[in-house]
Amino acid sequence: MSTRDFIEKDYYAALGVAKDADAAAIKKAYRALARDLHPDKNPDNAAAEAKFKEASEAYGVLSDPQKRTEYDEARRLFGSGGFRPGGAGGGFPSAGGYPSGGAGQPFDLGDLFGAAGQGGAGTRAGGGGLGDLFGGLFGGGAAPGGTRSRQQAASGPARGQDVETEATLAFDEAVLGVTVPLRMQSPGSCPTCHGSGAKPGTAPHTCPVCNGAGVTSRSQGAFAFSEPCRECRGSGSVVDDPCATCKGSGITDQVRTITVRIPAGVKDGQRIRLAGKGAPGRRGGPAGDLFVVVHVTGSELFGRSGDDLTLDVPITFAEAALGTTLTVPTLEGTVSLKVPAGTSGGRTFRVRGRGVQGKSRAGDLLVTVSIAVPAALSPEARTAVEALAAQLDEDPRPAVTAAVRAGGGA
Ligand SMILES: [Zn+2]
Ligand SMILES: [Zn+2]
Repeated sequence: MSTRDFIEKDYYAALGVAKDADAAAIKKAYRALARDLHPDKNPDNAAAEAKFKEASEAYGVLSDPQKRTEYDEARRLFGSGGFRPGGAGGGFPSAGGYPSGGAGQPFDLGDLFGAAGQGGAGTRAGGGGLGDLFGGLFGGGAAPGGTRSRQQAASGPARGQDVETEATLAFDEAVLGVTVPLRMQSPGSCPTCHGSGAKPGTAPHTCPVCNGAGVTSRSQGAFAFSEPCRECRGSGSVVDDPCATCKGSGITDQVRTITVRIPAGVKDGQRIRLAGKGAPGRRGGPAGDLFVVVHVTGSELFGRSGDDLTLDVPITFAEAALGTTLTVPTLEGTVSLKVPAGTSGGRTFRVRGRGVQGKSRAGDLLVTVSIAVPAALSPEARTAVEALAAQLDEDPRPAVTAAVRAGGGA
């Protein structure tokens, strides 16, 4: 999550609890919501899924005393939604609604100013946290320390955005794993102005309102509050001639193709996270993560049940009665399967380890045989079957026969 989330999202409302709710009440509210909204219980319900993610994110923050304090503090300082940072050097790592409950991303006001959401080195060097960025804030007046910290933060490394994309895989690709090229569009530093937002040949100048600090002071009663500068929207600099490519934002959508390895055993609809494969970081920061939602096409031969593959194989009456050795396909090569004499239709044989490679073990291939009956018989075959029938006097359905004799019923 980014600081913007902290400012714009009402986590208390998301969980339906009061602002002063205690830890137990928050946990209880979350559990109830998680139970009702869980995607397993609401398949293909986008609204429920969105609410589920929202609740998870809210719980991730509110269940952590430190994060909750920071969240309350951020909301108190900036109100809700009134402040939209951006401008030169702006741009936020977008959380994109990913569930981040307990992900442990450090909260850092640095990303309010276009610096790293993950704690830019500059911010850390300055001590980190609220006190750093708003150094001198609570003491009143614009302390030089605050200015320096902000500039360090703005020039520090920034983590790239998380990106979500989709991939459609063939059945066997999903089971065995596959390497696929993915074409992705994601925001990145504008190539024309190199992220400054200023038209080439010009440079942003220091904001005259805040003198580059990015924050201004406001008096209220006996206290002086700092808030992000409205003129430069917290960036500390103003662009006179905006870059035509990015319209002054310093950020443009860029298309890139990357090759990713999809692990074996993914399921249709599954969302997998590929760490470090998202948008590249800025100024040497780490790349964001890539989330790939996979769609898996069906197989004409195989079905899938968890990590097991299923396969239906028709056999003849003669094969079932006399026994046979079948050669059956697997996703990789073939295997021999011994069908013993006297096998009934519907019997399932397990071929160990030839299913889907799961996390800890491989699933099995479950082969179910059915008895194929010819739709038409040649006169010779008919004679042979009639002769066979005369030889078979065993009742194949004793329970049914007994019920019939008793006049029906259970
Ligand atoms: Zn530009
Ligand atoms: Zn300013």
